[in-house]
Amino acid sequence: MVGSGPAGLTFARVLHRHGYPVAILERDPGPDARPPGGTLDLHEGLGQLALDKAGLLAEYQALSRPEGQAMRILDADGTVLRDWQPRPDDRANPEIDRRQLRDLLIGPLDVQWGRGVTQVVPGTRDGVRVHFADGRQETFDLVVGADGAWSRIRPAVSSVTPHYTGVTSVETSLDDVDTRHPDLARLIGDGSVSVYGVNRSLVAQRNSGGHVKVYTKFRAPLDWHTNLDLADVEAVRSSLLALFDGWAAPVLDLLRHGTAFVHRPLYVLPVSHTWTHVSGVTLLGDAAHLMPPLGAGANLAMLDGAELAESIAAGPEDLDEAVRAFEEQMWARAGKWAKITTAGLERLVSPDPAEALALFDQVQPS
Ligand SMILES: Cc1cc2nc3c(=O)[nH]c(=O)nc-3n(C[C@H](O)[C@H](O)[C@H](O)COP(=O)(O)OP(=O)(O)OC[C@H]3O[C@@H](n4cnc5c(N)ncnc54)[C@H](O)[C@@H]3O)c2cc1C
Repeated sequence: MVGSGPAGLTFARVLHRHGYPVAILERDPGPDARPPGGTLDLHEGLGQLALDKAGLLAEYQALSRPEGQAMRILDADGTVLRDWQPRPDDRANPEIDRRQLRDLLIGPLDVQWGRGVTQVVPGTRDGVRVHFADGRQETFDLVVGADGAWSRIRPAVSSVTPHYTGVTSVETSLDDVDTRHPDLARLIGDGSVSVYGVNRSLVAQRNSGGHVKVYTKFRAPLDWHTNLDLADVEAVRSSLLALFDGWAAPVLDLLRHGTAFVHRPLYVLPVSHTWTHVSGVTLLGDAAHLMPPLGAGANLAMLDGAELAESIAAGPEDLDEAVRAFEEQMWARAGKWAKITTAGLERLVSPDPAEALALFDQVQPS
């Protein structure tokens, strides 16, 4: 198993539940080497189903925040257009911080930190050879690439690489929002506030502990920042404030009070990315089906992991057949979601902001 994101950890945890050990090879030097990223909502039929297969659903429910499903939509002038509040018993998509989810999944697992993989070579006499960044090599019966968007395992099965969507995201965050920025805390509420303008959007989402992540998205060429030093926090702030010029003051305050800024051009793999099965190697999650970040990627990654683990546990004597059957199932589901999220991104970062509202009216319970 290469990668200890949601896909890899769910895979390893479900196999562990069935009594099979897995070597988890992770490039990061330790669990807190990078900021873990924003909160995730896990859907009943996807991420929650995967946690159920791992025997962790009750623990997730105890940690998660159903109130985080609340969602408010404003127009660029700050007028509230929609204000959805979850019912007290609504458990469809409760939020959980990524760090909490990671710790829940790791539990008894033994992650091998600092083991970056550079390449895998299938079909050697002893199995699949894995090359590590430190020059070492090891051989395995099956290598599962759960190493995300820029997978080093993917080239062993597919020549496809991610392409830019034309949409870039710049993120920032605020801490202790309830005490330091009570007006903004009220604006965001228990869940998120979203604002849609012409070819741009801004979403602020509450994490646990008064932490808020703010995501701007806008259509731009990949080199939009040629004259901007992305490491210069004030320069990036000014550039975003110029980009969102004219938007309501409280919305812009989310950028004015943001701490660091993270630049994230959005890349995707083609919708319905499949490959000719290669014995001894497969992919899960973003490595297999990177798609726009519209609330599905981690959910799909986790269900991929859980299903591959169950498939292997059900028929360990024919590993190759178990993997082949899993791949067909994953491709069908991922293709469906890639279509949904690709169309969704077009509507959420659109020349016509009414498209975003119409999309939410279709998917939100009234
Ligand atoms: C801003 C943003 C918001 C998002 N919000 C949501 C959301 O609300 N809901 C949702 O479902 N999804 C969301 N997603 C998508 C979600 O984050 C991804 O789909 C999910 O993390 C994919 O999981 P993964 O395990 O496949 O890959 P990753 O999470 O990318 O994990 C890959 C792991 O592999 C390791 N790795 C990489 N290369 C190597 C190597 N060469 N050797 C060893 N290890 C390696 C990495 O360090 C990492 O630990 C969001 C994405 C973004 C960018």
